Amino acid sequence: DPAASPAQNSYSIITDTETLQAQFAHLQQLSRQQPITDWAMRAEQLDNLEAMLRDEQAAFATAISADFNHRSYAETQFAELFPSFTGITHAKKHGKGWMKTRRVGISALYLPAHNEIQPQPLGVVGIMVPWNYPLYLAIGPLIDALCAGNRVLIKMSESAPRFAECFAKAIAHYFSPDMVAVVVGEVALAEAFSALPFDHLLYTGSTEVGKKVMRAAAANLTPVTLELGGKSPVIVLEDAALENAVNRIMMGKTLNAGQTCIAPDYVLLPKAQHPRFIALAKEWFAKHYPDIGNNTDYSHLINDAHLQRVQGYLAEQPVDITHPLSELPTDDDTRFMPPIIVAEPDADSALMQNEIFAPILPLVHYDTLNDAIAFVNARPRPLALYVFGQKESAIERVRTQTVSGGVCVNEVLVHVAQHELPFGGIGHSGIGAYHGKAGFERFSHLKPVFVQSKLNGMNLLLPPYGELFKKG
Ligand code: NAD
Repeated sequence: DPAASPAQNSYSIITDTETLQAQFAHLQQLSRQQPITDWAMRAEQLDNLEAMLRDEQAAFATAISADFNHRSYAETQFAELFPSFTGITHAKKHGKGWMKTRRVGISALYLPAHNEIQPQPLGVVGIMVPWNYPLYLAIGPLIDALCAGNRVLIKMSESAPRFAECFAKAIAHYFSPDMVAVVVGEVALAEAFSALPFDHLLYTGSTEVGKKVMRAAAANLTPVTLELGGKSPVIVLEDAALENAVNRIMMGKTLNAGQTCIAPDYVLLPKAQHPRFIALAKEWFAKHYPDIGNNTDYSHLINDAHLQRVQGYLAEQPVDITHPLSELPTDDDTRFMPPIIVAEPDADSALMQNEIFAPILPLVHYDTLNDAIAFVNARPRPLALYVFGQKESAIERVRTQTVSGGVCVNEVLVHVAQHELPFGGIGHSGIGAYHGKAGFERFSHLKPVFVQSKLNGMNLLLPPYGELFKKG
């Protein structure tokens, strides 16, 4: 009986399909026999997670940096560690309240009975993690899944192998394998992972692989949350304070060298503002990344295949519309790529057809706001949309006439860090959302319960029906 002797039968670090399947069966059995119905046990898991992050943060940042051949430590701190810590604090503060059974309304016909919603753990949750923020995109869903009382298997990305190993060891140290285990391996193992009959599977990664994951999950009727990618546009309105817009857009594009799912992918702006945008962006980069040759604040691209992909996009563009913001050229050995603005690329070019995921920023000109909105709406629904401007009515038009996973007004990226806001995509950018209460509910069964009164309500449903349902 695996549930009775976890130490011999369960595994914290999984590197092959057989062990994966055995550990899944073990967790599934435990989740059926010993569901985590109390808050204390969940709070303990969140405490373990917090202790792990506190103790291992330096090792995590070092491993991530090694995978990127340099990832800025500051970026790992504020884009991965900070939202992880604050996410745990938020869950610890509110989780006990979220899990309470609550009364809801009832039709007068059924009084004095009452209705309740009772949140329950789903059981075993699978989390599939990409390489770009491999820490936060493992921890974020893990917080929500543990807070909701689930047991969890996490598949790390093969493209960030040093961190994957470091993270797997840390989880094995801080968690019982009866609660959380980590899977480390190549794509074949990822395929086996997505084929397991999880009670819920959350996948973060590309849209193409997301389709495969959903197909695999469908065979088990496993519900999925898909956190996918795509091209997140920025619309700069005519009256926008351009310096402020450039400041924030460039921050969003240079963070992690553009390898952010919600990075501003391209900018729509009035044609007359193109030259000033480029000049301001150059100034911005020189100011914030002085001495770029020795600058440790700037991250590198994850691997050669990824670098070659985006170099291919650039090779297709005419040289005179390509504006690197730094003297230092792309380095094939270190995978450093400076920010590059491409002014008015062909809408059919690969650069404008694919998610860029690198520090390349196309500027697309528009004549009227209707044109800009139509440009966005002619393409797959984006994960994020950013609008810069002052006139409320124009901002409102953009908000109501476009559909995207999330929006920031006069800002980029930070909607992802709001624990009070659900985070997710729509259409090709994803299915479902999580974070905070939305995440708790994502990984809970919100079970409807009808409770009859001791006084017994009316019973209309007993034959003989007599006159009650007589025809005519
Ligand atoms: P990736 O290559 O690391 O893949 C993600 C996961 O999918 C990994 O765990 C990998 O093992 C697994 N995988 C790969 N092939 C598979 C297959 N055939 N079947 C099942 N699983 C498989 O990451 P990626 O896809 O390059 O990640 C980048 C993409 O992720 C971008 O499109 C980005 O926009 C998106 N992303 C989205 C979010 C979000 O929250 N919506 C966050 C970060 C990244």
